[in-house]
Amino acid sequence: MHAMVVGGGVAGAASAIALRKAGVEVTVVEAYEEPGGEVGSFLSLAGNGLRALGALGCAEAVAGRGFEVPRQRMWGSSGKLLGDVPRGRLSGDPLNSVTLMRGHLVEELRAAAVRAGAEIVTGRRFEPGPAGADVGGADLVVGADGIWSVTRRTLDRAAPEPRYAGIYTVSGVSERVPGGVAAEPGVFNMVFARNGAFIFIAGPGREVWWSAQVSSPDEPADTSLESLKELYRSEGSASAVLASAVRLHRPTLHHVLAEVPVWQDGRTVLVGDAAHPVGAGQGASMAVEDAVVLARAIREEGAVDAALARYERERRARVARLARAASANRDAKTAGPVGRRINDLVMPVFFRHFYEKATGWLYSDDLSGALGPR
Ligand SMILES: Cc1cc2nc3c(=O)[nH]c(=O)nc-3n(C[C@H](O)[C@H](O)[C@H](O)COP(=O)(O)OP(=O)(O)OC[C@H]3O[C@@H](n4cnc5c(N)ncnc54)[C@H](O)[C@@H]3O)c2cc1C
Repeated sequence: MHAMVVGGGVAGAASAIALRKAGVEVTVVEAYEEPGGEVGSFLSLAGNGLRALGALGCAEAVAGRGFEVPRQRMWGSSGKLLGDVPRGRLSGDPLNSVTLMRGHLVEELRAAAVRAGAEIVTGRRFEPGPAGADVGGADLVVGADGIWSVTRRTLDRAAPEPRYAGIYTVSGVSERVPGGVAAEPGVFNMVFARNGAFIFIAGPGREVWWSAQVSSPDEPADTSLESLKELYRSEGSASAVLASAVRLHRPTLHHVLAEVPVWQDGRTVLVGDAAHPVGAGQGASMAVEDAVVLARAIREEGAVDAALARYERERRARVARLARAASANRDAKTAGPVGRRINDLVMPVFFRHFYEKATGWLYSDDLSGALGPR
């Protein structure tokens, strides 16, 4: 069997490794030469994503490119601590969440895909053509081409289009300076600030990695550091981090996508952001899970059409549940003054008593053995 994978990002490279493990010949076509390098910013892998990487034999190599983040603290705009919970895992789980640059994750996955025998063609944008058209003789076409997927449109001309979510992100790196913000190593901090969530985390050496998720009904005209400093001037920790900024990453607009009705047609299938840009810090983890579940279905079903139907059955409910959680997260991050006061009162109770029950289903999924012994 030969698979053509459109897109060599997280979902595409992970699919290539997983499909090689299922005995499939794989060609990946990626539009850009570079894996993203320092163009993107940082992302996190939760316990479920790291276990899925374990099925691909890449968990250690990927973890080695980043750093562990055992805890997550949520702060109100006033500086009140709203919650202190294990990050991306259940409290008894020793497997800590890992944060790393998106480009470094893609680099590791592409290297592992090549070692596993996949061919990766970079610098070529791929157009799959109309449904049913020959795609380089492939028996299976995997659309791993991200939120702006062209494969999604070839599967269904009426597929939904991404729309601006009313949030843009500017992220960057600051330097820890004497008297500056106290960024404790291993803690992911999220401030529910007036103009949108502000995340900061102690990075390697003296770095503090941060990300401002600014609420803005219209697409922003100004994403400069100066404009951020103004937007976050009344939140102590955010302004202290921004005051010592040394580097900014390219700003990004957040887009949401309505539920995609057609994920597969018996030969072509969507994975990762092409099928479901989920947010909530789970984009990369879900992309790796997709890859593993797809390859398991191919290996166990044999026939491509049966495998794709099974993949869709196994993934739909989990992804839909996560999309609901991500939408609630977005609402909390963009709450107005009244919403913020309610959050300040309700969140501490929620995080103390209900958080683990509400998120356990997500982290407890264990795909590490899904593709057989490592
Ligand atoms: C440059 C970049 C930076 C990012 N930075 C962050 C970040 O800082 N934090 C974060 O949480 N998430 C980031 N993301 C998104 C994150 O990688 C995804 O949400 C998640 O990992 C799921 O990955 P994916 O492979 O489905 O999609 P993506 O990571 O978007 O990968 C899709 C890939 O498909 C390629 N592609 C698209 N169309 C074609 C085509 N027609 N032919 C060939 N190739 C094509 C793209 O070049 C890209 O490499 C970034 C994505 C990109 C592309």
